[in-house]
Amino acid sequence: MKTVGKQSVVLTWVTVPVGTKALSCKCRNDLEHWERFTSRVADSCAVIGCLEKDLVGAWVKKTEGADQLSYVAPLCSEHCKETGELPVNGGMLVTARKHGKCRGAGHKSV
Ligand SMILES: [Zn+2]
Ligand SMILES: [Zn+2]
Repeated sequence: MKTVGKQSVVLTWVTVPVGTKALSCKCRNDLEHWERFTSRVADSCAVIGCLEKDLVGAWVKKTEGADQLSYVAPLCSEHCKETGELPVNGGMLVTARKHGKCRGAGHKSV
């Protein structure tokens, strides 16, 4: 656990894999999926210390441990192109798999 500013975050190293990706749910895009899943509005890049607001939903994979799952996180347009490892707030990763919490179609609950 590491504290950055007022938020306590779980530092998690991820990479952004290049290649095709598709959500198995019906969300229009990855950022919408993230917002539905978390019931939050994405307001900053998941990379620790990055304050960019130019966000897209990006697929990431953890680089440590046995966890090979894909996750979605809001990243700024620069970080989503990054090919190296990124230090992100682990609390901002949501599963890329279809999940009861996002429900694909339907209205966004605010
Ligand atoms: Zn979804
Ligand atoms: Zn960023």
